[in-house]
Amino acid sequence: MSASPSSSTGHGTGAGTGPGTGAGAPPHLVADCSRCAGLCCVALPFARSADFAVDKPAGVPCTNLRDDFRCGVHDRLRETGWVGCTVFDCAGAGQHVVQDLYGGRDWRSHPELADEMFAVFAVVRQLHEMLWHLDEAARRAPSSLVAEVSDATARTVALTSAPPDALRALDVAAHRSTVGPVLRRVSAVVRSVAAVRSRAPRGSRRAARDYSSADLIGAPLRGADLRGVDLCGAYLLGADLRDARLDEADLLGADLRGADVRGADLAGALYVTTMQVAAARGDARTTLPSRVPRPGSWGAAGPVPLPAPRRR
Ligand code: SF4
Repeated sequence: MSASPSSSTGHGTGAGTGPGTGAGAPPHLVADCSRCAGLCCVALPFARSADFAVDKPAGVPCTNLRDDFRCGVHDRLRETGWVGCTVFDCAGAGQHVVQDLYGGRDWRSHPELADEMFAVFAVVRQLHEMLWHLDEAARRAPSSLVAEVSDATARTVALTSAPPDALRALDVAAHRSTVGPVLRRVSAVVRSVAAVRSRAPRGSRRAARDYSSADLIGAPLRGADLRGVDLCGAYLLGADLRDARLDEADLLGADLRGADVRGADLAGALYVTTMQVAAARGDARTTLPSRVPRPGSWGAAGPVPLPAPRRR
């Protein structure tokens, strides 16, 4: 998926500032395909489906990958059946593996390194995803949790620079089980503050606050007030979230494939990833966290509407 995540999802373009441009993301967690060696286009397997035009086993280069590690169909991925490539994001793992761990060597020039490099990439990608979330946790953690977030971040960063043998042997799930609770503790505090702020008027219907791991596939949530709601691990495939308010909602690991987020407010949502957003359907009115790039297919962000004047 070389060169596709980068520009399809807005990564690496350096364009624009403000909410939803990706400008707020730490550079080392943003995919830079120009410094990678097409790792995702080789290391990962594909199954022929609505997302990929062909079957491809892991470790075999995609036939569209050019000699310069660029994608030969980059400008027409969706039209040619490679939608999955427009959604994928390595969170900067690709360039870290090639440049930092292997000193710029690549699997073509050094085929003896290929298997190891692909295995290392799979591990580092998961670590970078954890760092992406920890970066947000650090920004939003109350002072009582700052040290805990810093510790989890330091331990994860150290792992990303471990020798290849150690990375291959790493029990990623075990490490994740130490990071996840930290993320969730920060979420609980942020959501509790939001819950107070978004208290609904007496007699009105309020959204339930815990939808963690809930089956919300195709759920009619248009215009719902989901501020501060726990949607961690929720299945929101194809859900109607048009114009929904998701400030401080926890979207850690939520499945947003095909969810309709046109007009939804995701700017203050917790733990949103580039892949989640790229897999959803938004428009120019959808607001996103500043760290997350706006998919090109959504159109440019529209002007922020002014609040209605208060009547005396
Ligand atoms: S079509 Fe192939 S070369 Fe192009 S981004 Fe997808 S996997 Fe990579």
